[in-house]
Amino acid sequence: MSVRVRIAPSPTGNLHIGTARTAVFNWLFARHLGGQFILRIEDTDLERSRPEYTDNILEGLNWLGLTWDEGPFYQSQRLDLYKQAVQTLLDKGLAYRCYCTPEELNDMRAKQKAAGLAPRYDNRHRNLTADEQAAFEAEGRKPVIRFKIDGDRSIVWKDLVRGTVSWKASDLGGDMVVARAAEAGGVGQPLYNLAVVVDDMDMTITHVIRGEDHIANTAKQILLYEALGGQVPEFAHTPLILNQEGRKLSKRDGVTSISDFRKMGYIAPGLANYMTLLGWTAPDATQEIFTLDEAAQTFTFDRVNQAGAKFDWDKLNWINSQYLHHLPIPELTDLILPVWQEAGFATDSEERSWLEQIVALIGPSLTRLPEAVELAQMFFTEEINFSEEATEQLQKEGVKEILESLLATVEGHSLSEVEGQSATEDTLKDAIKAVTKAKKVKKGLVMRSLRAALTGEVHGPDLIQSWLLWNQKGQDGDRIKQSLNTL
Ligand code: GLU
Repeated sequence: MSVRVRIAPSPTGNLHIGTARTAVFNWLFARHLGGQFILRIEDTDLERSRPEYTDNILEGLNWLGLTWDEGPFYQSQRLDLYKQAVQTLLDKGLAYRCYCTPEELNDMRAKQKAAGLAPRYDNRHRNLTADEQAAFEAEGRKPVIRFKIDGDRSIVWKDLVRGTVSWKASDLGGDMVVARAAEAGGVGQPLYNLAVVVDDMDMTITHVIRGEDHIANTAKQILLYEALGGQVPEFAHTPLILNQEGRKLSKRDGVTSISDFRKMGYIAPGLANYMTLLGWTAPDATQEIFTLDEAAQTFTFDRVNQAGAKFDWDKLNWINSQYLHHLPIPELTDLILPVWQEAGFATDSEERSWLEQIVALIGPSLTRLPEAVELAQMFFTEEINFSEEATEQLQKEGVKEILESLLATVEGHSLSEVEGQSATEDTLKDAIKAVTKAKKVKKGLVMRSLRAALTGEVHGPDLIQSWLLWNQKGQDGDRIKQSLNTL
């Protein structure tokens, strides 16, 4: 049978990087083996689930390129199926109604704690007689449904990441609740572990790939598979993503959702590539840049680490910059335009080719998209902001004359061979050579002075290319004049 995997996010928050990374591993595994990747939205927690989180999750997965083959399926639309399964467990005598009140449970736990024991349900209502049940119901108590856990056994599975995992059933906290309280004789809201097993059976999931924090659930779920007569799938528990202190990355660490990373200007293939490396190493460990499709060709679980994966901003930045630097200019321009427009730059009247030239100029310096605002603002604002170093440069001896001479060249239209046309790279270079010769100064001085005059900075992107951009708009003379006015 072909491989079928799923990602099953709960829409109780935006798409978290941990869930997205788990989705990446599921996707890679499915694509590697030509299997199916299924999306299931686990929205049974009515209080915490919100449609806007579902939208955020679907959008984030789509944006990352984690296309799914089936779904999204919504658990909230499948409640009958879960209730039937609970009824099956009751009918088989594998589950029962427990009438304990919250106070009784608290009291039980407090006593266990005082005796130095781990808190667990002591299975006290496992064998109630019909009379005892009737008495509780007469009191108006509403029972939950508990699944019997045989505390003597252990649950063992071969995890694709962690090898053989063994869990003592006595450590699972006693008979577990599979459905919330309901009126007498009814079945209340089914709970996570039950719903997951019913769905994974119904959707014939062959491999359950999810975060390591679900290991205890896996032990419980294996018991439910057995009870419901299902085929137990294979399991792969992926390492957690850790913060700099080595603790699980959490909301307190600031940026954790995919939409936040997107807002920060990370691009989808860069972020997806980085997430692939959060716990997985390519067979050629030196290879760190690959698309999802490329990674899928070699992805296997024996190269997934057991140890947690530390989140490394420097590496993410480096990978993102690699993608930005290799994007074709028109594509990069499409990504940068909205960022510029948000900053009030690049209005519709700007020519696309002029904008693409700016992108080509600043692209190699970009790590994240918003940096394009600062890097390009000199092309969109008339007023020059002079840095201290630029002012010093302009005040150096002989600089005024150099700039006047350059201004004369610009204003005399001698930069273009044919009147009305913009200068070329060569004519600008020739103009610099001519001034260097006429003023008998070093070329470096001319270049530094011109940079300070045009940009207000002493460092920046290629000067000739930058000059060309202002020249095309007829603004180079104005900028040199503005600088001369400060002297
Ligand atoms: N809804 C669970 C979560 O978001 C899914 C766990 C699973 O994959 O079974 O953590």
